[in-house]
Amino acid sequence: MERRAVERVRGTQDLWPADARQLEVVRRRLEEAFAGFGYRRMDVPVLEPAELHLRKSGLEIISKLYAFDDLGGRRLCLRPELTASVVRAFVAQPAPRLPVKVFSSGSVFRYERPSKGRYRQFTQSGVELFGASGALADAEIVALAMDALDRLGLVDYRVTIGHVGILGELLSKLGLTGRVRTQLLESLEETRRHGLDAIRGRLHELDPDLFDPLGDDPVERTLPAQSDGVGEEHVRASLTGLLSKMGAERLGRRSEGDIVERLLRKLRPQSHREAVERALEFMERLGGIRGEPREVLGAGRDLLQAFGLAAAPLESLDRTVHLLEAFGANFHRVQLDLGLSRGLQYYTGMVFEIDHAGLGAESQLCGGGRYDDLFRALGARAPIPALGFAFGVERVKLALEAEGRPSGEPRAADVFVIPGTPEYVPFAARVATTLRRAGKRVDLDVTGRPLKTSLNYADREGYSQVAVVGEAEARDELVRLRDMGDGREQALSLADLAREWPAEGARPPGGAQLPRAAEAGRGH
Ligand code: AMP
Repeated sequence: MERRAVERVRGTQDLWPADARQLEVVRRRLEEAFAGFGYRRMDVPVLEPAELHLRKSGLEIISKLYAFDDLGGRRLCLRPELTASVVRAFVAQPAPRLPVKVFSSGSVFRYERPSKGRYRQFTQSGVELFGASGALADAEIVALAMDALDRLGLVDYRVTIGHVGILGELLSKLGLTGRVRTQLLESLEETRRHGLDAIRGRLHELDPDLFDPLGDDPVERTLPAQSDGVGEEHVRASLTGLLSKMGAERLGRRSEGDIVERLLRKLRPQSHREAVERALEFMERLGGIRGEPREVLGAGRDLLQAFGLAAAPLESLDRTVHLLEAFGANFHRVQLDLGLSRGLQYYTGMVFEIDHAGLGAESQLCGGGRYDDLFRALGARAPIPALGFAFGVERVKLALEAEGRPSGEPRAADVFVIPGTPEYVPFAARVATTLRRAGKRVDLDVTGRPLKTSLNYADREGYSQVAVVGEAEARDELVRLRDMGDGREQALSLADLAREWPAEGARPPGGAQLPRAAEAGRGH
C-alpha cells in the first residue's frame, strides 16, 4: 500500500494560526466598512449549478470553472465569484423588495495558473447594490471600496474608473450584435496590449463567413458602415416589402424569403466587415484615453462627437467623479480610463479596478462595476439596475504586508496635524477638531518638537495625511492636507468642512470668535 504523503492541491493554501488570523482581521475590517455604509451580510452556497456561470460570466471565468457532475448527474460548479449567486438568490425570491444592499464573503475557485497572489482557491469579500441606477449609486460603490482600504490604512493604491457603456453604444449604432458584439466588448482592453490584428484574428476564428480581414482580399472601404443604426432586421423588412410590391410572377422559382436571405447573405460580410473595422478604430482610440479625470472627460467628449455618439455615459462618469469628491474620497488616487472593460461579460456601465503598487504582477485588489443586464440573463422578468465589487482578501493582506503593516491593524489616525510654530497651537487644535467633526481620525502633535522631527515621526507611523498649520493657513482659515504617499496637497476651508459635513449638532469649535493666533507656545 502506498505511503506517500498526500499533497495539497496546487494553488490552494494552508494557513497556520498567525496567517489565518491576519486574513480574518482583514476580512472583518472590510466587512465593517461595508456595514458602515448600511450593507448587510448575506451568505450564498459554494456549490452552484454550472449554468449559473455559463449564462453570462464571459470566457475569462468560464474557461477557469471547476465544473463536474455530481452523483445525481447534475452539472455543478464551485463558485468562481459571488455576484451571480447573490443575483440568483434575489431572482428566486417570491416578492423581492428594492433597494437591496448586501455584502458577502467566502472562498471562490478558479482554475488559474498559480503564482504569487494568484490562487485556485481564494477569498472574496464584496458588496452588491440592486435597484439604483445613476451616478450616485456608482459613486457610493467606488467610495465604499476606497473607504474600506482607508480604514485598513492602505496608502499605495490607485483607483481606475471606466465605462463599458461607451463602446456598447457604438456597437448598437453599428448594428453589431450577438457573438461579434460580445467578442468586441471583451477585447477592449486587449486592443491596447495585443493590437488590433490579434482581435481581428479572434473574430475571424469566431465567424470566418462574416469577417475575413486576414484573407488576400483587402478590406473594401467603399460601402458605408451601418453607422446610421440601420440593423439587419430593418433591411430584411424593407427587402421583403419591395419584393412583394414587385409581384410573385417576376421572382421566378425562388420564394420571396429565399431571395431576401440570399441578398442579406451577400450584403452581410461587407457591411459587417465595415462595421467591425469602424468599431476597432473606435476601440483603439478609446483605449488611448486615460489619466487625470478632467482631461479624460474632455478627450472622451471629442471622440464621441467624432463618431456621432451621445455623450450620456461620459456625463454619468463626470457626475460620478464629482460625487466621489463629495464622499470625501482621496481624489488624487482616482484616474479615468476609457479603455477599461474588465473580463466579465456582464458589465454594462461604470466599471472600476483598484490596484496596489506593492503587489507586482497581480496588483489588482478589487474589481467591480454596473451589471444591469445580469438579472434578465438569470431569469428575472424585468431588468434591475445593479452594481457591486469584490476584493481579493489575500491580496489586500499582501498589500498591507508590502506597506509594512502586516497586522492589518489600522493606524491610530488618518491625519497628523502639526502646529508650524508655537503661536499657532490654538489654531491647530481648532483644525484638528473641525477635521474630527467632519469624520476624520486626527492626531494633533502636542509635543512641541521641531517640525522636521514631527514630519519624520509622521512618516514612520504611516499617517496617510499630514497638515502643518501656520500663518498662511490661519490667515485664510484653511487646512492643507498633504498626502504622505504622493505628496499632493488638498486645501480645505474650515468653513466648508464645517458646512459640508456637519456632525450632529456640531458647530466649528470656537466659531469665528476664536483668536487665530494666541500666545500659547509649543512644548508647554
Ligand atoms: P473579479 O471577480 O475577477 O473581478 O476579481 C475580484 C478580485 O478578486 C480581484 O480584484 C482580485 O483581488 C481577486 N482575485 C481574482 N482572481 C484571483 C486569484 N486567482 N487569486 C487571488 N485573488 C484573485
